[in-house]
Amino acid sequence: MKAIRVSKAGGPEALELVSVEVPEPLPGYVVVEQSYAGVNFIDIYYREGVYPLPLPATIGSEGSGTIVSVGPGVSDFASGDRVAYTGVLGTYAEYCAVPVDKLVKIPDGISDDVAAAAMLQGMTAQFLTESCYPVKRDEIVVVHAAAGGVGSLVTQLASRKLGAKVVATTSTAAKAELASSFGASFVEEYGTFVARARELGGAHVVYDGVGKVTFDDSLTALRRRGMMVLFGGASGQVPPFDLQRLNTLGSLYVTRPTLFHYIADRGELLARAKSVFDSIARGELEIRVGGVYPLADAHQAQRDLASRNTTGKLLLSLSS
Ligand code: NDP
Repeated sequence: MKAIRVSKAGGPEALELVSVEVPEPLPGYVVVEQSYAGVNFIDIYYREGVYPLPLPATIGSEGSGTIVSVGPGVSDFASGDRVAYTGVLGTYAEYCAVPVDKLVKIPDGISDDVAAAAMLQGMTAQFLTESCYPVKRDEIVVVHAAAGGVGSLVTQLASRKLGAKVVATTSTAAKAELASSFGASFVEEYGTFVARARELGGAHVVYDGVGKVTFDDSLTALRRRGMMVLFGGASGQVPPFDLQRLNTLGSLYVTRPTLFHYIADRGELLARAKSVFDSIARGELEIRVGGVYPLADAHQAQRDLASRNTTGKLLLSLSS
């Protein structure tokens, strides 16, 4: 089978297309013939060595497809089941060995591309808006990069499902139009969102996946006792920070969550996946795929994601 390997951490050129054996299912594992793999910032962090991996390694953290073989001890899943997963390393490949505790069955009516796209970003948007800071009706919610993968889904859940007023940020007019279509009440440039949030009395919560360049302004956009949810660093990581500022800016809260701590328990994983699939079925959540690349072009998909020129979700198509 074909797979994308990293032998030495580095730039996009570190992604090598190689031929390797199809994996055998170990006890507690299934092997999936994959349809799609999601392309995510975490894959870039693995490639660059920001998150160190024993090398060589096949990267990729999210996928969907059909089970073709099951290992000893597997009873809840069978060959032919359509499944999706995240938190599994090795999805940039035609086949992937997946531990059963990471598997979610794809409901009828949800296609494999939507399922792959929904796992990491969809469940992230779900836990951010419903667990990390549970958004309430009519609250003021700032969402950065609202035309992007996670941002577009946070915007939709906060506005359409939870009834909040979303102040979205984007960098271009075309992205602003998209953010409006996702339900944002106000769409601002990065230089104007603080004024807009303050005019509305200050944000109850800011969802910030941009990080380094937005963090300080995000804090000042919050109302007294507001919540800063820093969930990523598309522009770079936020440097060390003086906690005393939380006091002077209004007894603020800051959290730096990751999805994997919100789906570590199998019951929680299944409940979040169900919530996302139900939201898609009800029309509260539209998963917009912004680009589909062949496996051999994984390097280009990562370049595009980091370049700031994409919208929605990027996928690798794996079926031959
Ligand atoms: P996006 O599709 O949102 O792409 C990133 C967007 O960030 C860009 O499109 C751009 O939108 C904006 N941006 C602003 N400044 C920069 C910059 N200097 N370089 C690149 N982009 C910039 O990506 P994802 O949805 O895949 O991920 C968004 C963030 O969420 C990432 O930081 C990622 O690590 C994080 N994440 C965190 C998770 C968690 O569990 N904590 C889970 C999943 C993702 P614009 O042009 O409109 O400014």
